Amino acid sequence: MIDSLITQVQYQAEERQEELFALLAELIAFPTVSPPARNTLKAQQYMEEKLKASGFETKLWEVYPGDLNVTAVKLGTERDTHRSLLLNGHMDVAEVSDTREWQSDPFKLTMKNGRAFGRGTADMKGGLAALLFTVKLLTEAGVELKGDLLFHSVIGEEAGEAGTRACMERGYRADLAVVADTSGLAIQGQGGVITAWVTVQSPCTYHDGMRSQMIHAGGGVQAASAIEKMVKLITGLQELERHWAVTKSYPGFPAGSNTINPAVIEGGRHAAFIADRCSLWITVHFYPNEDYISVAAEIEAHLIGVAQGDPWLRENPPTFRWGGRSMIEERGEIFPSLELDTESDGLKALFANHQEVLGTAPEISMSSTVTDAGWLGRAGIPTIIYGPGDLSNAHSVDESIDLKELVDYVKVMIAFIADWCNRTKPECNID
Ligand SMILES: [Zn+2]
Repeated sequence: MIDSLITQVQYQAEERQEELFALLAELIAFPTVSPPARNTLKAQQYMEEKLKASGFETKLWEVYPGDLNVTAVKLGTERDTHRSLLLNGHMDVAEVSDTREWQSDPFKLTMKNGRAFGRGTADMKGGLAALLFTVKLLTEAGVELKGDLLFHSVIGEEAGEAGTRACMERGYRADLAVVADTSGLAIQGQGGVITAWVTVQSPCTYHDGMRSQMIHAGGGVQAASAIEKMVKLITGLQELERHWAVTKSYPGFPAGSNTINPAVIEGGRHAAFIADRCSLWITVHFYPNEDYISVAAEIEAHLIGVAQGDPWLRENPPTFRWGGRSMIEERGEIFPSLELDTESDGLKALFANHQEVLGTAPEISMSSTVTDAGWLGRAGIPTIIYGPGDLSNAHSVDESIDLKELVDYVKVMIAFIADWCNRTKPECNID
């Protein structure tokens, strides 16, 4: 049962919702578009200031020049014995290609017909503003939290950059994490994504005039066009993709969601040469119960097998560069997958609070996109994606969010944080 103090705080959330919209307006006004990125300093300083005002100890630290993470913690009053919670959200937003397509300025919050319009309202400054407002109201009301409450405002999510990954590498951990990315108040897990560069490289470079000797009887030159050999590998990838489509599946995903996309190809040097190098950039989607390491190994083994069937590729097998920490810096990214444990305490607690506060059970589903949640899960933190905003609005022209949904999210999170952070750690339960 939700006690009367929490009910009062939720009442405040309704009464003072204009403050929430003002926070959102301030966040939207920072044009933290990515790419080009490297533009979150002011926005993150703003976050840090707001978190300090709500009693958090904060750190602002550089991931890339001009792009900083904020990691904050409000230490629990009985932190050794009570459960901690990590709230995660990203400050960067999708790029805005042409502002003329927008009905209003994407960096000026506009409210109309119960919705707020602006770049990042749905993905995911709405979530960040809501979390800021939640911790502000909890702090002002003097709600005691016995376990630690961590708040990470990260950079780089839109361009596959390692904002959240860097937090995990710094060793931040909690008993549960909630990623407030766009889920329409559904409790979600996700599949994963990894990119790779597959490269065919000839040890020798030949002039175009040599081609007849390479391909005709009696030519005697054992050589190949890297572009033509890449065609074999692309065919191999299609066969593996089809094999995956019929042999792998996961509840909540349409069959064949595990795709291998040959996204970009670069090869050859000039019309006067035989192509001595060809690189293929692939994007691989995999299911929540798969890890990117094993998926990468599977693709490599398959393509090496394809290469074994070709006399030239057997001698000159393809090489692989998997993933990367940034699409901008390295042209590579990884989003680990996230499975949901519907029997876990965290999921049950969030489910129950949502149901009690809003009167309906939340949907439990799989996100059709990827978020930073996979990095938290992979670091061993039980993690849930749960945030306001719908995906059809993320990245879109005239991006918007439902204002009532935003307030509902705050009300659920008020109850959930007060519940979770005041539970004893399982190992501290004395029967
Ligand atoms: Zn997002």
